[in-house]
Amino acid sequence: KLYNQVQDLKGSIRVYCRVRPFLSGQFDYLSTVDHIEEGTITINTLAKNGKGRKSFNFNKVFGPSATQDEVFSDTQPLVRSVLDGYNVCIFAYGQTGSGKTYTMTGPKDLTEHSQGVNYRALRDLFLLAEQRKDTICYDVSVQMIEIYNEQVRDLLTDGLSKRYPFLLRYFKLWYQKLLVENSFTKNTLEIRNSSQTGLSVPDASLVHVSTTPDIIYLMNIGQRNRAVGATALNDRSSRSHSCLTVHVQGRDLTSGNIIRGCMHLVDLAGSERVDKSEVTGDRLKEAQHINRSLSALGDVISSLAQKSSHVPYRNSKLTQLLQDSLGGQAKTLMFVHISPEPDAIGETISTLKFAERVA
Ligand code: ADP
Ligand code: MG
Repeated sequence: KLYNQVQDLKGSIRVYCRVRPFLSGQFDYLSTVDHIEEGTITINTLAKNGKGRKSFNFNKVFGPSATQDEVFSDTQPLVRSVLDGYNVCIFAYGQTGSGKTYTMTGPKDLTEHSQGVNYRALRDLFLLAEQRKDTICYDVSVQMIEIYNEQVRDLLTDGLSKRYPFLLRYFKLWYQKLLVENSFTKNTLEIRNSSQTGLSVPDASLVHVSTTPDIIYLMNIGQRNRAVGATALNDRSSRSHSCLTVHVQGRDLTSGNIIRGCMHLVDLAGSERVDKSEVTGDRLKEAQHINRSLSALGDVISSLAQKSSHVPYRNSKLTQLLQDSLGGQAKTLMFVHISPEPDAIGETISTLKFAERVA
């Protein structure tokens, strides 16, 4: 009720497009983005015969100069609705290098100014919970998981202290203070639709958070766990989906009523198509898993947008995980990212087409 500005003509699914700026050192390029006007982006398709242009419409388009602050201010109403008991999913979609992680988390050399949606969302929830503390008592906890080759892994285990034993003493004190439940022993986790607890991955560590340092600490553990097994040539993070889930429970201090809300913040695997003639073995298997799960996500969102009676949630781990937070009363926001370089034009067009299908 408080945030019905979130509702718009397209119901509860919105799509924002974000264009990455050129990176330092890229001087000679001409952007494939011809122009941006409100919710419309026009692409120069670089057609050989003359200048092809194509336009795509979104709820909003953020150009290369949009700041993290501007992006978050259009996301904030959705984030805040979690405290009113809504379920929310926010996705970052796009080819590797287009800025998904930048939007959700931020750049590698993170400053408060450059923090992405994940940090800002949690900070904002704390702030609003504090403002409401005389009427509602809120409890916030998080889970962080990764889906790689259709297997679900906990990102908030203490694998870090196993790898760096000298940190163990220091970490254990702090970490155990935060830990509500954990399962250090299980490696691949099951997805269960336990509407009772609201936890779709009940065996993943569930960590209570109440301050900004808690979040920064946990995000660091998550990011380091995500990097395990990756090498320079084998950046696994671009080939797995990572999901930060925020569970909120509020107790109304006068009536005693409980409100539950949940938010999934998902940094999707890179959407680029790999050339089947060039990759084999593990790399091909990964690519097939990614293709399948991204198209399953597209199918679910577009059938929700068309108010279709059958929504195909069962086709991937990703859509199973998010089932309770996609459709119904839930709110969905997809950020689609594009790179401005001419040599990315093929992927840019296929990204925009994907987005057009779900919008
Ligand atoms: P992805 O997660 O989609 O693979 P990244 O978020 O890692 O892409 O972005 C690739 C590079 O571009 C990183 O160095 C990142 O810091 C930079 N970058 C992405 N988006 C922006 C932006 N909006 N402003 C400045 N730098 C950006
Ligand atoms: Mg990334």
